[in-house]
Amino acid sequence: MISGGNHLTTTTIRGGTLVTADATTSGDLLIVDGQIAAVGQPDPKGEIVDASGLLVLPGMVDTHVHLMDPGDTEREDFPTGTSAAAARGVTTIIEHTHSHPIRSVDDLHEKRHHLDGRANVDFGLAAHVWPDRIDAIESLVGEGISFFKIFTCTTHGVPSLGPAAMTDALGAVARSGGRCLIHGEDEAITLDAERRLRSLGRVDPMLLVEWRSREAELVAVAATAAAVLDTKAVATIAHVSNPAVLDVIEEFRRLGADLAAEACPQYFALDEAELAVAGALRKFTPPARIRDHEERDGMWQAVKDHRFGHFSTDHAPSTKAQKTGPDFWDAPFGLPGLDTTFPFLLDAALSGEITMSDVVRLYATAPAARYRLPKGVIEVGADADLVLVDPGASWTVQDEDIISKAGWSPYEGRTFRGGVVSTYLRGTQIASAGMSHDQRLGRFVRPAM
Ligand SMILES: [Zn+2]
Repeated sequence: MISGGNHLTTTTIRGGTLVTADATTSGDLLIVDGQIAAVGQPDPKGEIVDASGLLVLPGMVDTHVHLMDPGDTEREDFPTGTSAAAARGVTTIIEHTHSHPIRSVDDLHEKRHHLDGRANVDFGLAAHVWPDRIDAIESLVGEGISFFKIFTCTTHGVPSLGPAAMTDALGAVARSGGRCLIHGEDEAITLDAERRLRSLGRVDPMLLVEWRSREAELVAVAATAAAVLDTKAVATIAHVSNPAVLDVIEEFRRLGADLAAEACPQYFALDEAELAVAGALRKFTPPARIRDHEERDGMWQAVKDHRFGHFSTDHAPSTKAQKTGPDFWDAPFGLPGLDTTFPFLLDAALSGEITMSDVVRLYATAPAARYRLPKGVIEVGADADLVLVDPGASWTVQDEDIISKAGWSPYEGRTFRGGVVSTYLRGTQIASAGMSHDQRLGRFVRPAM
């Protein structure tokens, strides 16, 4: 590992196919002291990693992750969540936990201190906007927060921002040069539906479709998009569930709003009807919308047409026991997903739905750029965060393979083409053969301002 005399760790990744957001080429990588020092045909030096027959991609960047640490650590924690990430090709996450939010600079420092030595991948942190703490936004941007999470409806115990507070918050984000991620479901529509469904005595899982309706999502996103346009904020709409929401986002983008649409695998891979069978194991919000092949094709067409900015997981795990209590209303929202998002996208590429460069663009380069993290690329000077993929392998998902504390996956039984061979964080192998090495090398990353 130590090359002659200069005490720099040097590795050459040799004979692989390099995949970036723009191109697929054959070439070698020289890594010196955790950074990419040469791309192409450098003289091999140091440790030689034989990547022949393998694809070499930048490590994936997942910007919507909840690891509940500190917080509900019986659901997930940083060691387990980031081990799932590392084993499945994700080398950077942006994390936020609803039950233990960052609302001030003190909260941020406390959380960073707590996370010392607990991360297997690099991580940024997002803050929550609380209606009465909008004044904290500017100082949090200065301390390196990646983005601000804003809710339009009271969810997961996080208060909603009404139209006035939303305008104030977005204005503060815009003035301080920050970014935000907005969960869009209308408060009045969801509350009204909840009252109606409860008064009818509904307890069946399909109530979710009426409670968290398409209309509620559309109305909230339209109102939010107008406020984003008005305040000149930079915002991403979280987990866009169907193309009608994209239409609204694009209308406001045409008017000049800096809006991006986030995609998540569950709105492509899961059907609305699964709720009736799987119950709370499909309770997430907005819920799955797909009802037929045409709707599924419509979502993939939107990806091909570059209507989505990037993919994220919205990893929000609970164990099966936590999910399947007696009352559907009380079950926690959310799905585990860090174990499966990259495999899902790899499969989409190897099945011909999208290209391998699309995978890199959508799950590494674009999300890193959206939040200004110096990650998600293969170029000289970049961190040597890499994932080596065997395109000939495949993985049939089984609950016992899931590294997340959730211990189950909504994709159990599905076979994904492709396999992660190994993952590198700043030049050090952090996972191989589906296992995280759990060395806790992850560091806090801040946006480049
Ligand atoms: Zn989320």
